[in-house]
Amino acid sequence: MISLSKKVCLLGDFAVGKTSLVRRFVYNLFEDKYFSTIGVKVSRKVVAVPRGDEIIELTLMLWDLAGSEEFDDVRISYMRGATGAVAVCDLTRPETLASLHDYAQTLRRVSPQAQLILAANKVDLADQAGASAEQVRELAAQLAAPYYLTSAKNGAQVETLFRHLGRLLVA
Ligand code: GDP
Ligand code: MG
Repeated sequence: MISLSKKVCLLGDFAVGKTSLVRRFVYNLFEDKYFSTIGVKVSRKVVAVPRGDEIIELTLMLWDLAGSEEFDDVRISYMRGATGAVAVCDLTRPETLASLHDYAQTLRRVSPQAQLILAANKVDLADQAGASAEQVRELAAQLAAPYYLTSAKNGAQVETLFRHLGRLLVA
């Protein structure tokens, strides 16, 4: 069995659901209250990912930064060495989609080889959605990244998204 370990960064504006997506994926839990992450939290999850005829034991080191998203120099050192990133936006706040251009640009400058995937989160709040699936599809096309409409609350597409990223990371 081949074992690999990869650094994955969570990117996106404050309160889009970065911490919640990690918590859902790693612990299968959701918390309604908002706890601002302090500093960087690194969570670890091992997944079995197919590569051709073999199975790779992939350790995802999920880096979740908070508080200082706005400071470019912090963002840059946070992204250094990342081989993958999940760019998260909040479907109820269209401005969080627009921000992802910036995050993606910084990522491609700092870690040009990193695989990027998009999570358009809070799809369970579809009735309050300010952004349409079509807008997300366009954004994903512009960023040349696969995307999923996720919910950290009910778990929709969360596992699927991280597994897709896992396959990209071992390819
Ligand atoms: P972060 O700042 O990006 O890490 O955002 P958090 O993960 O802390 O989430 C911000 C707020 O949105 C919290 O109150 C979460 O409970 C809530 N939240 C996160 N993901 C979802 C989701 O998929 N659906 C709903 N309804 N709320 C969510
Ligand atoms: Mg957070």
